[in-house]
Amino acid sequence: MRNFLKVLTVSLMLVPTLWSQDKSEAAKPSADLRFSVDLLDKNIDPCNDFYAYACSKWLVKNPIPADRSSWGRFNELQQRGEYIVRDILEKASVNQPGRSANQQKIGDYYASCMDESAIEKAGTKPLERDFQSIAALRSKADLAQEIVRLHGEGADALFGFDSGSDFKNASQIIAQVDQGGLGLPDRDYYFKDDEKSVELRKKYVAHVARMFTLLGDDEGKAAAEAKVVMEIETSLAKGALDQTSRRDPQKIYHKLTDKELAALSPVFNWTTYFEGVGAPRFDSLNVIEPDFIKNMQEVIGAHSLDDWKTYLRWHAVHGNVQMLPAAFVNENFDFFGKTLTGAKELRPRWKRCVSFTNGDLGELVGQIYVEQTFGAEGKERTLAMVGALEKALGQDIKDSPWMGADTKTQALVKLQAITNRIGYTDKWRDYSALQIVRGDALGNLQRANHNDLQYRLKKIGTRLDKREWPYPPMTVNATYDPTQNNITFPAGILQPPFYDNQADDALNFGGIGAVIGHELTHGFDDQGSQFDADGNLRDWWTADDKKQFEARTGCIRDQYANFVAVDDLKLNGKLTLGENLADLGGLWLAWEAWLDKAAAAHLDMSATEDSYTPEQRFWIAYAQQWCTQTRPERLRTQAQTDPHAPDEYRTNTVLQDLPEFAKSFSCRKTAAMVNPNPCRVW
Ligand SMILES: [Zn+2]
Repeated sequence: MRNFLKVLTVSLMLVPTLWSQDKSEAAKPSADLRFSVDLLDKNIDPCNDFYAYACSKWLVKNPIPADRSSWGRFNELQQRGEYIVRDILEKASVNQPGRSANQQKIGDYYASCMDESAIEKAGTKPLERDFQSIAALRSKADLAQEIVRLHGEGADALFGFDSGSDFKNASQIIAQVDQGGLGLPDRDYYFKDDEKSVELRKKYVAHVARMFTLLGDDEGKAAAEAKVVMEIETSLAKGALDQTSRRDPQKIYHKLTDKELAALSPVFNWTTYFEGVGAPRFDSLNVIEPDFIKNMQEVIGAHSLDDWKTYLRWHAVHGNVQMLPAAFVNENFDFFGKTLTGAKELRPRWKRCVSFTNGDLGELVGQIYVEQTFGAEGKERTLAMVGALEKALGQDIKDSPWMGADTKTQALVKLQAITNRIGYTDKWRDYSALQIVRGDALGNLQRANHNDLQYRLKKIGTRLDKREWPYPPMTVNATYDPTQNNITFPAGILQPPFYDNQADDALNFGGIGAVIGHELTHGFDDQGSQFDADGNLRDWWTADDKKQFEARTGCIRDQYANFVAVDDLKLNGKLTLGENLADLGGLWLAWEAWLDKAAAAHLDMSATEDSYTPEQRFWIAYAQQWCTQTRPERLRTQAQTDPHAPDEYRTNTVLQDLPEFAKSFSCRKTAAMVNPNPCRVW
């Protein structure tokens, strides 16, 4: 399944990918996700460790389920959504006359996914066409047509091809060629020489070999094939950029003509590829990482046609694994679940099928989901909070002690131009060309991927349509897109513990308010600040102000770079900078906006509820949405690939940098929750 986020979109948390998308089979959620002071551990000094104070009782009561690599309040909410979606899908899957075309699609997709006996019976037969086609390749010149086939099925082979905004002319959608074709989570995994990384590569090769034996190859042959896969992927990875560099828009924008692209790697038949994959004609595109394509030329030349056939066969099976028989699924989980994330058990079938249906037919499911769950009040109140936070950010920019008048003017223009998308899209996606066949799970997956690729490639050469959303409305997340200069809050996150219709402003500003602030701040983080009001990559800063900005963001970078993620592994201060900046700025904006509103309403700040003042309840609401525990394997992967810091830091470090927090709890200056030299940008 494809990662549906665009190259630059930044989110509140890591959007699950296949290997981390584990959901638990804990009892059907009856737990109230609303704010409760009963979760507080009053034996802990809030000035010493606020995260423990706010979360430790919850953490004790909520051990990580066996099929999860982490478990937090986010996940509780996600799980609630899964049960709602399951009900929707089970109803739609009853094969009776009168189902609408949309019900037929989601119902039959889900039913086919759940039909394990049909999947076992089909075995690897559905992949036979792929294997025959790979075996029939006569020369490396035929590689392009085979990559067309694999990309059409959703497999990630050799490189990536997509559409996206032109960074320097953001309302225009252009073609994008990107690095790809690697099985491990990041290019650095192929080269790091610490003990854990070496061990991990061994396990990966063993996994690839076992997948080949499952395809029927004998052990000797499978081991040799796995070695070839590892060699090709390692040599491809040499040309690839690491995750930290990929956050820098300057490093991932290279507008070339189609001829210039072809000259980087002439051995690959680009014309055959672009025509075959169904892209509209274009004469220029963003080659995100030219060195990768240049290196591809060498890698294609350096390996025999037989080696390439092995590599393609691996990606065909890897890319389709979720709808293959249990032996394949279990083997895949063993490496991508157990080894990389520490999960102990595979998720139950229905949860996997809910998530695959959401991934492949998300907007069909989403239409029914919002009809059932989303009220107008949530949208109105959230919009009002967005307005209040935007006002606070505007005031902050005007009052900034380090920013000059010219840059301030530009920043305010950008802030004014930010648009908000709340709840769900105004333009549901049309899936009418997609055929879903009951009983053909793998075919459905491939056709859905093909349809999705066509949907995205059709946009090449068109104007950006901001009504289209990058993910379905039941998603528990929120995003800022620097090329669109907009923030998106799906219906899925506008629920407790983030947003509660019945709660007062202190709780909602500490909850969803901080999330809104987080996304707004992304427009002005180390990455977002490089884009202007129209979403174009354009430097609107004076050189002096940029220097001031970098000194301040440097404080945050160094602060987090000192934190241990797990064992000997520290956080990457640069990789996590944008998110850490957004966390700090976001909570500060929510606080200011709330104080403003409270003052206007003459809120009595000394009146307590459950013996907590409104200020204290604001901070508690913030901390409690982050209560999470994570397995060490997942922490290790996260520290190397995820721009978000672990949740404990997202709570305590941010609060330590805000003296207003310490004041609310009357913390002494020497307390652990007080940073004597707090970082501050916005
Ligand atoms: Zn974020």
